Amino acid sequence: MLTQWKCSHCGYTFGAEKPPEECPSCKEKCAFMDVSCYTPECGGPGNIDPRLT
Ligand SMILES: [Zn+2]
Repeated sequence: MLTQWKCSHCGYTFGAEKPPEECPSCKEKCAFMDVSCYTPECGGPGNIDPRLT
């Protein structure tokens, strides 16, 4: 299951095994926050936890 990442620069969220060198959206080298859902409330792995975004 892919981890969900959020770009700290533009807020873009996407699924990937590991965060890329640069953001697919803003093309910046920025920090990526793991916003994956790990509880059933937000749908489980593969989904984004709305509390983290
Ligand atoms: Zn970005």
